[in-house]
Amino acid sequence: MPTFFADLHMHSTASDGSDPPRALPQLARAAGLHAIALTDHDTAAGLHECADACRKHKITFVPGIELSADPAAVRPDRQPTGTLHLLGYFIAPDSPALSEAELHLREARKTRNQRVVERLRELGVNVTYEQVVEQAGGDIIGRPHIARVLINKGYVRTTHEAFDRYLGQRGAAYVQRDRLSPAQAIELIHRAGGIAVLAHPIQLRLDEPDQLDHAVAKLVDLGLDGLEVRHSDHDGSAIRRYQNMAERRNLLITGGSDYHGPQKPVQIASQGLDRAAFERLCASAERR
Ligand code: AMP
Ligand code: FE
Ligand code: FE
Ligand code: ZN
Repeated sequence: MPTFFADLHMHSTASDGSDPPRALPQLARAAGLHAIALTDHDTAAGLHECADACRKHKITFVPGIELSADPAAVRPDRQPTGTLHLLGYFIAPDSPALSEAELHLREARKTRNQRVVERLRELGVNVTYEQVVEQAGGDIIGRPHIARVLINKGYVRTTHEAFDRYLGQRGAAYVQRDRLSPAQAIELIHRAGGIAVLAHPIQLRLDEPDQLDHAVAKLVDLGLDGLEVRHSDHDGSAIRRYQNMAERRNLLITGGSDYHGPQKPVQIASQGLDRAAFERLCASAERR
């Protein structure tokens, strides 16, 4: 396995990961990393705790966040399909703009989650919203937590099955949540002092190169700063494609595993940047 210097994409219990923010730096150190970014979905709540633990373990810390946005605005087909996630790096954890947006996003999640539970109950699946809240433990409650409840109650065997049958875009209990537009997400990251990076471009599900190029061009118009070239979902040919796209458009290059904890097969440090690429990223981010 290649050894990376920096893993710039991971989640904690502040969103849908299973390790607390303070535990990540030690895991990172043990895996041979020298730098990490914490990128919880829609929240900066874990950043201070993770930063403190990074200082103790002599790990360079990049404060981050991962915002979900509506893909329809950038897709050539204008459909709300696929996944559009924007990573913010070098953000100020206490940014007032961010805190305000977090409140709004939490409300939108709550409404969506309650409707998913309603749908599930209509389908004869005996779950309650309270059980989902309890399962999540933290403030950011997502479909992976609903999946855990379904597994614990024996309705499905795996998270994968929970998304296939119920929670995914084609699932029987799928409910879209109010999301930021890509413009809002990028603006928010910039207002928090960060750089905006398109996460796992493969998940936009735009398989034709010119379609993805169309989406990236739109995002660049909105202020996109970089592309996540290396990610656990990207094979060698995807990495080369995104690397070329980033170079052609003069975008910053990032990479990370998207580690969510031991319950998912993705390992910490299994994707990332080598030292030179990380230093280039930091130097360019400073200039923006
Ligand atoms: P939410 O933020 O509640 O919309 O849930 C999105 C999260 O669910 C993603 O960040 C992943 O962690 C997880 N997820 C999405 N699709 C799947 C899938 N097909 N299988 C397993 N986990 C998934
Ligand atoms: Fe997640
Ligand atoms: Fe993501
Ligand atoms: Zn992620």
